Amino acid sequence: MQVTHSSLNYKDGLAVSGRPGVLRSYPMTPGIDLAGTVLEDRTGRWQPGQPVILTGWGIGERQDGGYATLARANAGWLVAQPPGTDARWAMSVGTAGFTAMLAVMALEEHGVTPGDGEVLVTGAAGGVGSTAVALLAAAGHTVVASTGRAQEEAYLLGLGASRVIGRDELPALKRPLEKERWAGVVDSVGGATLAGAYASTRTHGSLAVCGLAGGSDLNASVFPLILRGVNLLGIDSVTCPAPRREAAWARLARDLGAVKLEAVTQERALGDVPALAGQILAGQIRGRTVIDVNG
Ligand code: NDP
Repeated sequence: MQVTHSSLNYKDGLAVSGRPGVLRSYPMTPGIDLAGTVLEDRTGRWQPGQPVILTGWGIGERQDGGYATLARANAGWLVAQPPGTDARWAMSVGTAGFTAMLAVMALEEHGVTPGDGEVLVTGAAGGVGSTAVALLAAAGHTVVASTGRAQEEAYLLGLGASRVIGRDELPALKRPLEKERWAGVVDSVGGATLAGAYASTRTHGSLAVCGLAGGSDLNASVFPLILRGVNLLGIDSVTCPAPRREAAWARLARDLGAVKLEAVTQERALGDVPALAGQILAGQIRGRTVIDVNG
């Protein structure tokens, strides 16, 4: 493939900063996302010049990834660029936006319906969080955005949040069962934030658990599961099967067009990635960052 764009995700920040656990061997090109065009496909499935997207499946971890102008991949991993979109849009979505879409789909499949009540998004000013806020709002949900960056309140309200709460509110909910608040939750933070969100999810509500930006522990009781029928749903974008990938990308193209994503997106050159990596690990990147690999 001829790669034109990649993106910056939390995992890319870990890889580029040399943190253990992402790059499984060396030498390895990081970048868990890429978009571009097919140059050659020996399986015959894709035609030269066809625009495609590749996220996850271990690229930028176990196999060379998107921080390059050329890439080779398994033909079965690619998704056709949805009609009416381009590579920059695809990388503005990237793994973070794709994961947010999978989270929203999982909540819907477990009965979270607009009008049910407030849906919480944690880590709301980050990549997964920003796109989750926009997608939930587009679907008609009442969205509560949890953030540690009070200065991003206007940004989050602009994306469609109905109100913004501080990052400290959820970890403060420490009892096994707290007052019922959330019809659904998209969590990219983990740790005490997830534990507080879980304890305060309403009867038959659901949590889509995506990330660990605030910690990988989950110190919680079974009470929300067995007394409220709460659903704790795991989201893994890396191994998501092809049919579900295609459905998610089609819905992203429908609900999160380039105009909506503009407010969420900055575009940077490949040479900026080392500095950006430190910023995303420090929780200083707002929304999504597209990487122009020719820049
Ligand atoms: P970002 O850095 O863009 O967003 C993470 C957000 O979490 C930050 O913007 C910040 O939001 C919040 N945050 C950061 N540090 C802390 C902290 N110490 N305590 C509480 N909140 C914190 O990353 P991404 O959106 O790319 O990824 C988010 C998480 O989701 C990561 O853990 C990532 O590994 C995971 N992920 C998982 C995927 C999957 O398939 N399961 C796919 C993609 C990502 P704010 O400033 O609003 O408080």
